[in-house]
Amino acid sequence: MTFPQILMTFVPSKINKIMESLRFKAIDNLTSTKEGVKVESPAKITAIFGESVFTLKTAREFLSDDAYKSLANSIKSGQKIDRNVANYIAAGMRQWAQAKGVTHYTHWFQPLTGTSAEKHDSFFTLKSDGSAIEEFDGNALTQQEPDASSFPSGGLRATFEARGYTAWDPTSPAFIMNIGTGLTLCIPTIFVSYTGESLDYKAPLLKSIESLNKAAVDVCHYFDKNVGKVTATLGWEQEYFVIDEGLANARPDLIMTGRTVFGHAPSKGQQLEDHYFGSIPERVYDFMRDFEYESYRLGIPLRTRHNEVAPAQFECAPIFEELNLAVDHNTLLMDVMTRVAKRHKLKVLLHEKPFAGINGSGKHNNWSMATDTGVNLLAPGKTPKTNLMFLAFFVNTIKAVHDHADLLRAAIASAGNDHRLGANEAPPAIISAYIGGYLAKVLDEVESRVGNKFDEQDEVMLKLDIHKNIPELLLDNTDRNRTSPFAFTGNKFEFRAVGSSANCGYNMTVLNTIMAETLSSFKSEVDGLIEKGDKKEVAIMQVIKNYITASKKVLFEGDGYSEEWQEEAAKRGLPNVKTTPLALDALVTEKAKGLFAKHKILTHSELEARHEIELEKYIKYVQIEGRVIGDLAGNHILPAAIRYQNVLINNVKGLKDLGLKAEAYTAQMNVLNEISEHINKVQVIAEKMTEARKAANNLGSSRDKAIEYCEKVKPLFDEIRYSVDKLELLVDDSEWELPKYRELLFLR
Ligand code: ADP
Ligand code: MG
Repeated sequence: MTFPQILMTFVPSKINKIMESLRFKAIDNLTSTKEGVKVESPAKITAIFGESVFTLKTAREFLSDDAYKSLANSIKSGQKIDRNVANYIAAGMRQWAQAKGVTHYTHWFQPLTGTSAEKHDSFFTLKSDGSAIEEFDGNALTQQEPDASSFPSGGLRATFEARGYTAWDPTSPAFIMNIGTGLTLCIPTIFVSYTGESLDYKAPLLKSIESLNKAAVDVCHYFDKNVGKVTATLGWEQEYFVIDEGLANARPDLIMTGRTVFGHAPSKGQQLEDHYFGSIPERVYDFMRDFEYESYRLGIPLRTRHNEVAPAQFECAPIFEELNLAVDHNTLLMDVMTRVAKRHKLKVLLHEKPFAGINGSGKHNNWSMATDTGVNLLAPGKTPKTNLMFLAFFVNTIKAVHDHADLLRAAIASAGNDHRLGANEAPPAIISAYIGGYLAKVLDEVESRVGNKFDEQDEVMLKLDIHKNIPELLLDNTDRNRTSPFAFTGNKFEFRAVGSSANCGYNMTVLNTIMAETLSSFKSEVDGLIEKGDKKEVAIMQVIKNYITASKKVLFEGDGYSEEWQEEAAKRGLPNVKTTPLALDALVTEKAKGLFAKHKILTHSELEARHEIELEKYIKYVQIEGRVIGDLAGNHILPAAIRYQNVLINNVKGLKDLGLKAEAYTAQMNVLNEISEHINKVQVIAEKMTEARKAANNLGSSRDKAIEYCEKVKPLFDEIRYSVDKLELLVDDSEWELPKYRELLFLR
């Protein structure tokens, strides 16, 4: 055979083999199918905004005066709706929904799995005489009984009592979800057990909002008697990755765990930072517009979209809203994004760290408090009096973070987020607050000038014109606050350490609760001084000063990513708990139990149940990762490596047969040795990992199990990965079945 003949016989079979692999099929599909999904733009966003939501405006149209008033009242006060009125509201809602083509309804809730849950029922029903009617009554609106046994309860529900209730939360409006071609009326609800314990994120969140309201109104009354209500506000920034669905489907690890457990860093990563400043790729842009329109219809006020630092990473953020609604909207958005992406043959990755070696994703929770008189309590005021109010709320927040840093850490702990918080990527596991140079100076001054006893004559403090210095403050903030887990950004705090896939409800419940606790202590301390004869302002300044002294060690203005901060934080005695199983301990300390019980947010047993559920989630997640790693190593990586090993062996044999000297095949031998070494390592460590998993599974308590998984099983993942990633570089590219980082991140 001549050389071209050899080529002829070799190439087609080789190509066939290549084409069999999902990886190459996906790459081929990418280049052959170019037409995207048509996304119809509405003339104006305002024309579609909220069209799928049963807003008060819609209610006005579909409800009687009485029913409307009752609904409006209940939204304002958070009060339960009367059964009779509920019938009328339900009828109006059904009328509205059916006019839009809705056939089913569901109670929409947020169980502790972290996602949203639904069980659809149709309006259609049969009467006793067999005639068919459409029905949706007050009972169906206000309460349902989903089978609770398939949701995590942390042992709260004995197995014989599987019943759980969902109950309507009128403060979050009903909406119509468009899934495929079906339309469903969704009623936002809380989810509680038969005995009344909460089984979701929403019930405690609502209680914490109320608790914060009470405590904050009390403190506001020092400054303004007209304040009747304080509402917590939230504007989340959602980071995510988008990759091609075909490529994602060729990665069992992405499908099963949401992250890549293997994958060598591409030659080009994020070092050029060209993605951050670059334009949004066309296919992704279509997808963004599509999910934005769907979000607008659902009343989610998305405002910004842009590329993030890492390749294939993006972010979107809404205009901030009242906290409860903002949490629902974030949960809803994650769901909408995931579904809309399918239409575009894309896959959204909400995992905190889908790719090693490049940035992970967070959810920055911008949080503040607003009064019903229109004041943002974390915005510096324009007058000395409002400045003092700002200072009070500002310093109380810092004190709350200082006193309950462990709880904040626990509230953001998850297997996924450990890749960010515990690793050399910030924000670190150390909870600190960043307030910017100017405010740090202000606090220093308050602390030093007030002396032992604040003097009423000391007008300097009261005249501090924080407002005028805000531009400087913001400039100072933009850069450095990136590395802080909790940063003041001019008129709100940004809790940046939250994981991208987290339900906001959980961490916001903690933040509200610790703030309520701090504000109520603040009030009793100020009242104490006033009773002893201090003037109000003097008393307030005095307690502010004390709080600064007590909590300033939690303030940090430097680089949160740095090694020095780890050392400095240790010196200051700040906790630095890097892993979830240990971070979760904070949920069940006597202090935490007392705090949550005092504010009637969670009972001791509810807290213990949550602790248990979070541990179980962690264990299951790491367990699944372990299985996927074992499976991929055994069924994908080693076979490919061994195939290539054989090619090299035959090559060396052939050269030897031709009588060539050893020098002629040194390169092949080197590669062969390296490959063989890594094949062995992968096999041996994978075996060891299986044994370690068995040992962990045999432990009794969830906490022990979780710690064992964390400390004994997980480190083996990294060892296996090291060798697998080396093999990726050594093995013939056409033999490698898993799409590589360069393909996942750069092809679309
Ligand atoms: P960046 O932090 O990137 O500078 P912005 O300051 O515009 O961006 O805000 C980020 C998020 O913070 C947005 O969702 C915005 O609506 C929200 N936000 C702004 N003010 C408040 C507030 N008072 N309370 C809660 N969230 C707020
Ligand atoms: Mg921001």
